[in-house]
Amino acid sequence: TSVRQGSLPDEDATLALGAALAHAIAPGTVIYLWGDLGAGKTTLSRGLLTALGHHGRVKSPTYTLVESYPLASLTVHHFDLYRFADPEEWEDAGFRDYFGPDTLCLVEWPDKAEGLLPRADLVVELAVAGSGRSYRITAQTDIGQSCLTRLST
Ligand code: ADP
Ligand code: MG
Repeated sequence: TSVRQGSLPDEDATLALGAALAHAIAPGTVIYLWGDLGAGKTTLSRGLLTALGHHGRVKSPTYTLVESYPLASLTVHHFDLYRFADPEEWEDAGFRDYFGPDTLCLVEWPDKAEGLLPRADLVVELAVAGSGRSYRITAQTDIGQSCLTRLST
């Protein structure tokens, strides 16, 4: 299966999906997080980071564009590109170097940096559904496919 979808009735379910992803990913994975403001992208990222051993807060890197978490197993870079507007900033900030075989990159609002970002291995789409959320995860590469397979077993 290259798609997995379901419902997330409450915040804990979003955190749990993030934790499940944490156990399924491999270093070098790029995950795009799609969804409107409030859809749960940062919540999912928090569940993932906590499961990888991060203690403490996960803030939305809305103004800094990226927040990095050097963890025991790998370094996670959490991007929020909502306010990203200047393509030159991509090079100036050295964002290209954040992507590589040893890091996990989570990217909120990837469409804001279209053409600059490396392609996604996994795309996670979140949407408001009643009082909860729905999700769909699509694998876009072999790495993403392996991850999705581990997620389902
Ligand atoms: P985004 O990063 O997509 O803008 P956030 O992760 O900041 O969204 O979440 C916005 C709000 O949605 C938070 O208050 C969070 O608790 C809530 N939330 C997250 N997942 C769910 C869910 N499955 N059901 C209901 N509320 C949720
Ligand atoms: Mg967010």
